[in-house]
Amino acid sequence: MKPSKCLIFCRDARRSKALFETEAKAMAFIKYNRYAIKRKAGFAPVRAYHCTSCDGWHVTSRKAVFDVPDKAEVMIAAYNREHNLDWQNRRDRLREQKREQRREQELEQKLIQEREQEAANLLKARIKRNGPLMALYKQIEEIHKLIKNRTDKTRTYKAFTKAYQKLGIIMDSQSPTTDIQIIKDKLDSIYADYQSKEK
Ligand SMILES: [Zn+2]
Repeated sequence: MKPSKCLIFCRDARRSKALFETEAKAMAFIKYNRYAIKRKAGFAPVRAYHCTSCDGWHVTSRKAVFDVPDKAEVMIAAYNREHNLDWQNRRDRLREQKREQRREQELEQKLIQEREQEAANLLKARIKRNGPLMALYKQIEEIHKLIKNRTDKTRTYKAFTKAYQKLGIIMDSQSPTTDIQIIKDKLDSIYADYQSKEK
């Protein structure tokens, strides 16, 4: 095998070099050609080495085997370091953003709950003297508890029926007020919500 047949320009060695697919092929080349090359050139290849840049095997007349990475390996390692660092930074930033979002959501949730509690307290204070309306309010609170505790359907629907009976009586016997409407809306929305989730 003539070396000129598989000469390629090696970017790592910065000159043309014979390239072999496998170490065995490179070693076979040395074995069968070294005397002829030595006669002609005065020196001959003595060992094969892997080249990352060419992704194959070269032969060299230099005996010393330095266990150092070639240029391509150094560049790849540098790229990986940089790339990993960059990726890590981005991941850290994303995590921080997510934490920030969660904190904001929690705060918002807390504010909403506080406002809801405040509104509920005000409503309770207003209907304190209206016995039937207060009873209906307490029934709605009871339904809330049943839903929260995942009580079985039958009991929960019975509680709804009871609440709507109370509401019917109130609407028949009292003149309409905003508070009655608020409580009716509350009951309706809980009922609609419960039905949609039960399906
Ligand atoms: Zn090479």
